[in-house]
Amino acid sequence: MSPDKAMKLADIMYGHEGKFACHLSGRYNPDKYPKAPPIQICQMHCGCWIVADGNNRVGLILRKNPDATLADIPDHLIAISRYGEWDHETMDWINPSPRSFRDAMKKQPSKRLADKDAVHGLIERSENGGFYACVIGTRNTPHVSAYGKSPSDAKILLEQKLATSLNRSNICVILTSLSPLFDHQCSSSIF
Ligand SMILES: [Zn+2]
Repeated sequence: MSPDKAMKLADIMYGHEGKFACHLSGRYNPDKYPKAPPIQICQMHCGCWIVADGNNRVGLILRKNPDATLADIPDHLIAISRYGEWDHETMDWINPSPRSFRDAMKKQPSKRLADKDAVHGLIERSENGGFYACVIGTRNTPHVSAYGKSPSDAKILLEQKLATSLNRSNICVILTSLSPLFDHQCSSSIF
């Protein structure tokens, strides 16, 4: 099976872990990079497609046109690999829970406080499906942990607990996860 030309680029999986980052600017212009390799779009075990090479270029196209489809990339600039034809094990290792460009490009909520005022903590999935967040105690911060059904539940509760113990009203916690918080979710529009 080859990907449908009408497939939206936003539904293809972003090949990098974490939130979307683009190191190119302007409009996608293939003539500007004549020596660039084709954009590699590879099939995953579940049937989803992922960009193995060319994530920045796909990001550029989507920034100008969020509804762009595969047909917006000239045929000679795409290399399609079906499952089994590419090194999916390396991708599974680097990026075990890929998510779509649509998800990865979603705007992050703006920070309420400058980084210097924020408290940094960790968040991880717990074995029962919930999320466990904590702030490691330091000289100025107590050790506080919280459990929630969703990452935002855990974060809100953690902020409340920290606000109570520090006797401050406006606490902003920035949580970092050491492993993906969610499993790969298939892009429904391909089925
Ligand atoms: Zn999938």
